[in-house]
Amino acid sequence: MSDATSPSRIPLALYAIGLGSNRRHARFGDPRQVLMAALDALESADIEPVDASPIIASEPIGPSRRRYANAVALVASPLSPSEMLRRLQAIEAAFGRRTGQRWSARTLDLDILLWSGGTWADRDLTIPHPAMASRAFVLGPLRAIAPDWQHPLLGRSVRQLAAKLVRAKPVDRNASAH
Ligand code: ATP
Ligand code: CA
Ligand code: CA
Repeated sequence: MSDATSPSRIPLALYAIGLGSNRRHARFGDPRQVLMAALDALESADIEPVDASPIIASEPIGPSRRRYANAVALVASPLSPSEMLRRLQAIEAAFGRRTGQRWSARTLDLDILLWSGGTWADRDLTIPHPAMASRAFVLGPLRAIAPDWQHPLLGRSVRQLAAKLVRAKPVDRNASAH
């Protein structure tokens, strides 16, 4: 019962992962389909999906015909934040490769938004994600699945942050990055 290797004794952390795509993928299809495949790809022996938001998607506007899709997933995992980042980057890399071509622009962006451990800051990783509170395409999906999660630095819930954003209507300088 007290076996330290018992799965029940590994502390699980909860992560909110932001997913974004603005490019078609040769195999998976348009950005919405890329995100559905990415949600599947997240699940593994040590990443357990807990919930996923609806995928929000833009229609193509103007001559560019570029579509955007965004979603947020909640996952439970024994991985540390650094390990989780490496895992997400490996999934991004797997989605960025188009069959028969050299490396091309990334079709999938996976960001760690929140972590149940609170805050994290090193050279490669900042949690909470620094831009999350100013991005409607993050807060909207996140509110759908974790409205009561408190931002550990701002001391407000996701619901409060989303409401504040709607009232303030700020310009997000990073919005085009998705
Ligand atoms: P943004 O972070 O503004 O959404 P982006 O997602 O387009 O921009 P990337 O090029 O995907 O930026 O990532 C740049 C670097 O950000 C990564 O190499 C990673 O080390 C770092 N990073 C810092 N904090 C985080 C985080 N919370 N989640 C994911 N990456 C992070
Ligand atoms: Ca990223
Ligand atoms: Ca991003």
